[in-house]
Amino acid sequence: MLLEILEQNYLMHELAVTENILALALEAAQQANARRITAINLVIGDLSSFVDESVQFYFDLLSRGTIAEGAVLRFRREHAVAICRTCGHQFQVSPPLLPICPNCGDHYLEVKGGQGVAVDSIEVSDGDEAESSETGSQC
Ligand SMILES: [Zn+2]
Repeated sequence: MLLEILEQNYLMHELAVTENILALALEAAQQANARRITAINLVIGDLSSFVDESVQFYFDLLSRGTIAEGAVLRFRREHAVAICRTCGHQFQVSPPLLPICPNCGDHYLEVKGGQGVAVDSIEVSDGDEAESSETGSQC
């Protein structure tokens, strides 16, 4: 089952972010009467400094003893988009930022997205039966 998270708040600090991710996921799972959270799908902005491993690290610590314990975090990178205020041209940007519009050469750019982390959706399960078929690898 896939639960869409409607409020995509972009959050800025890894530990606080991970707490929020967990809180959002637990709340959504509770509303759906889910017994376990098996995966959380996250969107990470290209311009943010988040490291997947450290979010996963905090998550593993914070989720202990909750229904989200053992959940897999999946990360999707989101590109930032710059909009030229002079000509309206939109283009994808990735660090290091190019401060010039490729269309008109002006400098008045507005950057949208690509920053912070958002919870996109979570995957939950109703029962606590073994789901050994879901993951093929372990370490
Ligand atoms: Zn332009």
